[in-house]
Amino acid sequence: MTDQKPKLKKPRGVARLVDGKCIACGARCQSVCPVNCVEMTDSGEPIIEGVKCIGCQKCVKICPASALEMYFSPEELKILAELAASAAPVEEEVDPEAAALARKLAEYRGVWVFVEQTEGEPAKVSWELLGVGAGLASTLGVELCALVIGYEVETLCSEAFAHGASKVYLLDAPVYRHYRTEAYVEGCCHLIEKYKPEVILMGATGMGRDLAGAIATRVATGLTADCTGLAIDDKRNLMQTRPAFGGNIMATIMCDKFRPQMATVRPNVMPMPERKEGAQGVVIRDPFVVPEESVLTKVIEIIRDAHSKSAVDITGAEFIISGGRGLMGPENFAMLQELADELGGVVGASRSAVDAGWMPGDRQVGQTGKTVRPKIYIACGISGAIQHLVGMQDSDMVIAINRDKSAPIFEVATYGIVGDLFQVVPAITKKIRELKQSRK
Ligand SMILES: Cc1cc2nc3c(=O)[nH]c(=O)nc-3n(C[C@H](O)[C@H](O)[C@H](O)COP(=O)(O)OP(=O)(O)OC[C@H]3O[C@@H](n4cnc5c(N)ncnc54)[C@H](O)[C@@H]3O)c2cc1C
Ligand code: SF4
Ligand code: SF4
Repeated sequence: MTDQKPKLKKPRGVARLVDGKCIACGARCQSVCPVNCVEMTDSGEPIIEGVKCIGCQKCVKICPASALEMYFSPEELKILAELAASAAPVEEEVDPEAAALARKLAEYRGVWVFVEQTEGEPAKVSWELLGVGAGLASTLGVELCALVIGYEVETLCSEAFAHGASKVYLLDAPVYRHYRTEAYVEGCCHLIEKYKPEVILMGATGMGRDLAGAIATRVATGLTADCTGLAIDDKRNLMQTRPAFGGNIMATIMCDKFRPQMATVRPNVMPMPERKEGAQGVVIRDPFVVPEESVLTKVIEIIRDAHSKSAVDITGAEFIISGGRGLMGPENFAMLQELADELGGVVGASRSAVDAGWMPGDRQVGQTGKTVRPKIYIACGISGAIQHLVGMQDSDMVIAINRDKSAPIFEVATYGIVGDLFQVVPAITKKIRELKQSRK
């Protein structure tokens, strides 16, 4: 049997001011103190209430003038010396603030994906999010769950299982038939408060953006919109990557002190997971119903936009021929349409082309337009600004046609054609027609 040495507690000390070094920076030390033991004098110097100080060292670390230091009493110095000299196990005192935070965060477990639906029709982005959510849940060692809200939408549960969820939280009642912010926020917040998920993902669609913002405000947590990358760090934090400063840098944002961690992702940014036919899971039918009289918004009638019937959804297209400022004018987009017709594709545009009024806004690809992921993306007369690239760089194949061989579009292109698009595009269309003809 071996004797167990008693554990010595490592003293934490208290902060104190080093005479003459404070530069009165504006009370940074006071602002970081978690136990409010720093008072400021009229001349802007701190007075630290030693008995309240828990020795967290936050003020010492933030001080720009090295004007604060940790003070240890002679007894504490003796213990520190003993600890340094011996191999006795050290019992680190736990920072009470950090411990309370860790306890709070540990109450939240599970990755949830909001399944967006309109009149029972699911939005494809929900399944894409279940795909990325599966990776996050596996890293965290938790369940991947879907959140289904609507009326007579139980069939969506089996769809959610087929796309990777192992559990579905279901709110099914007439009050949830049409999307209304108040009813959906109440319903979602009820489930969040009851089951405490640590991550919630939603589509960056009209509905998702509206709902996510309202929920994050209600449950007092952070929300990162339009993420292009999601991962988990070694402290279970969701690393949410998205373009920032007009798309010129990619920022990774974390919400390390609040739960749940909420993120929205645009359609087509994440790959669609493989469908597992017949996959089963658990359905938690929650009886929570928002009283209809408490919902101020009433849906009287749904009037379909006449334009929407003729509108082209470039996000679902397999072939996109996009034109930029190099097209020189709206009339030249007919040339791209001819090529698109031969391929069974659609015509897209850069923002410059849209801003010039050459193409409608719903054709714009990029950061402030649509995110697309076609099989083939043909960029004609588009320079390849980062704001355009973030909307199309995940296409299976990119073909760039540009007369400037140093155009950035060539950096993401699978095939690059340096040449005049007014010669290259008709030549490609002609070749495709000939090939089709020869196969008849
Ligand atoms: C906050 C913010 C958000 C933005 N969001 C978007 C967005 O969502 N989508 C987007 O596209 N942009 C967006 N932009 C704008 C973006 O920065 C670029 O200005 C825009 O993408 C440039 O469009 P373009 O490539 O058509 O034009 P240009 O940059 O002018 O490029 C035209 C290209 O055509 C080539 N060319 C000219 N004539 C020919 C020819 N005959 N044959 C072959 N090549 C030819 C030229 O060599 C050139 O490379 C955004 C900008 C900001 C600041
Ligand atoms: S060491 Fe921590 S608790 Fe003590 S004064 Fe500085 S910030 Fe406050
Ligand atoms: S942070 Fe440092 S310089 Fe700033 S007020 Fe506190 S002691 Fe002075």
